[in-house]
Amino acid sequence: MHDNSRCINCERAVADAAQKFCPNCGQPTPAHRIDWHFLGHELEHSVLHMDRGILYSLKQLMLRPGPLLRDYIEGRRGNQVKPLLLITVMSAVVVLLNRLVVGTGMMDMSGSVNSTGALNTSAEAQALMSGFMSASRSVGDWINAHFAAFTLLLLPIEASVKWLVFRRYSKLNYPEWLVITALLTVQVFVIWTVLILL
Ligand SMILES: [Zn+2]
Repeated sequence: MHDNSRCINCERAVADAAQKFCPNCGQPTPAHRIDWHFLGHELEHSVLHMDRGILYSLKQLMLRPGPLLRDYIEGRRGNQVKPLLLITVMSAVVVLLNRLVVGTGMMDMSGSVNSTGALNTSAEAQALMSGFMSASRSVGDWINAHFAAFTLLLLPIEASVKWLVFRRYSKLNYPEWLVITALLTVQVFVIWTVLILL
């Protein structure tokens, strides 16, 4: 097996036993075998931890967005999850929840089509009505399914607008505006998630 005096990833000598990560490549030293304990630990550190991780970053973003944005822009990023990871996770959550909610919404709608159909005496009007219902349903589905994607596509444009508008007053560059806009979009996704759940 591997000896613990060297980084298993890049072979750099480990300076002392207390060192937790390789200073050269960031690899944990010593490396642990992947087992249940390891997986539990990974989950705990990447998601559930209260002083860092996804939930921590989301909580900070919702409760004190100003300080979080300032910290992130000024370089205090040690405790924060990368915005790209946050926005990926949150858009996946929004899309999945939307699917689930649209799924149940469709069942409710087809039920109401049947009941309006029963009220109509004319079979022609009934067919027209159900045609209209299914058309509006598919438009709704389409918007629901792609709204998160639209929001993501608009992100670079939104960032460039902010950059142009605030260029005179702030020293932030375009990539910094991109990160700020991404974090604000994550905020919107969190609010959507709450609204969908309600
Ligand atoms: Zn290394």
